[in-house]
Amino acid sequence: RRIITTELTEEDKRIENSLRPQLLDSYIGQEKAKANLKVYIEAAKQRGESLDHVLFYGPPGLGKTTLAGIIANEMEVNMKVTSGPAIEKPGEMAAILSNLKEGDVLFVDEIHRLNRQVEELLYPAMEDFAIDIVIGKGAAAKSIRLELPKFTLVGATTRAGMLTPPLRDRFGVVNRLEFYTTEELKEIICRSAGVLKVDIDSEGAFELARRSRGTPRLANRLLKRVRDFAQVKYDGYITKEVADFALDLLEVDKLGLDNMDRAIILSMIEKFNGGPVGIETVAATLGEDSGTIEEVYEPYLVQNGLILRTPRGRMVSGIAYRHFGLAEKPVDL
Ligand code: ADP
Repeated sequence: RRIITTELTEEDKRIENSLRPQLLDSYIGQEKAKANLKVYIEAAKQRGESLDHVLFYGPPGLGKTTLAGIIANEMEVNMKVTSGPAIEKPGEMAAILSNLKEGDVLFVDEIHRLNRQVEELLYPAMEDFAIDIVIGKGAAAKSIRLELPKFTLVGATTRAGMLTPPLRDRFGVVNRLEFYTTEELKEIICRSAGVLKVDIDSEGAFELARRSRGTPRLANRLLKRVRDFAQVKYDGYITKEVADFALDLLEVDKLGLDNMDRAIILSMIEKFNGGPVGIETVAATLGEDSGTIEEVYEPYLVQNGLILRTPRGRMVSGIAYRHFGLAEKPVDL
């Protein structure tokens, strides 16, 4: 199984839930989003109202679901969880909405994948806390309005650009989540190690943090894997030496790149002379879905300057050539 993947196994889910911070103060990093939310939550609580609808966007594993749960905890309400692809019919969404209680949080993951009819049902639900339901067929059909409790929709998406403007405009609070710094990830790793009762020293935590490509989900995953190595070979204690050994075996390099990242960059260098090349073409060469490359792999590579996005396509940067110990191609002028 690949280390960097968006699919979660049952074990992932169980462990992730145990590692999720429950309140804003124990949530590490994302200072801007946190400060923002703190104000809105406090204001809503003072007025005794439900919180405005909130949208989180950013790459997978950065803490969108975790923040949705924190919002519900801080507002002292319940959270219902669903996702864009899970809801096929407007009736299913209507059933979820009408079962909410006053103030509840409805978390919709991958909200950009809702189909049009379901999305259109959300417009009046979000704006007026009501939905129109058509009863009967043909000439006898009539529309009745169903009032809903005042709820908070928390939407999460990896692709803000794919949200339709009418849906995006209905979110009062929009937060972009950023990749975490190595220091923040180190703190997250130490916290998770405490919860999982794993012994790790500061250098060990730093090495894991540095190779977690800015992503808490990955940091926790690497911690779990390295713990297994430590247990079998090193009396359970994670030091830099253990982390280095295990991460090298797992083929996660010093920049946190795994085999797929390397394949993306190397195929661009070897087959397309470093680009510019379209993402679809690179995806086809690798037999991978272009959406996955764009959402899961590319953001980190772009953020770290390994891949450049240009109007003519993606290009491999000098940093990437040097990372692989390759001679840079001469720049065409
Ligand atoms: P997303 O919904 O963006 O894909 P999640 O909220 O599911 O990401 O987070 C993935 C994992 O990372 C969870 O197990 C969570 O515990 C951990 N995590 C995310 N953000 C933080 C954070 N700021 N502090 C501590 N752990 C975090």
